[in-house]
Amino acid sequence: MCALPDDLCICQEIAKEQQKAVISVVRRRYGKMVTTVEGIEDTAIDIGQLAKILKGACASGGTVKGRTIELQGDHKKKAARVLEQNGYQVEVR
Ligand SMILES: [Zn+2]
Repeated sequence: MCALPDDLCICQEIAKEQQKAVISVVRRRYGKMVTTVEGIEDTAIDIGQLAKILKGACASGGTVKGRTIELQGDHKKKAARVLEQNGYQVEVR
């Protein structure tokens, strides 16, 4: 990380270009669908903030486990669009 204040820092922007967000939908216990976003490994990216953006856009609950974002429900298309709009490369599985 750098010493710039948050509003001037572009570390996240640079980091995003190097990352590929991999989106997949998996079925969990009791048949519940969960959308996972993986592959965002660069710690310059605030994964909690990104999860908040995705949860808001998908109107869904979710959690962060390590560097993986989990959203409740099937939000593959919406999540892909939001991630692209936020500057990420996206791969949908
Ligand atoms: Zn910075």
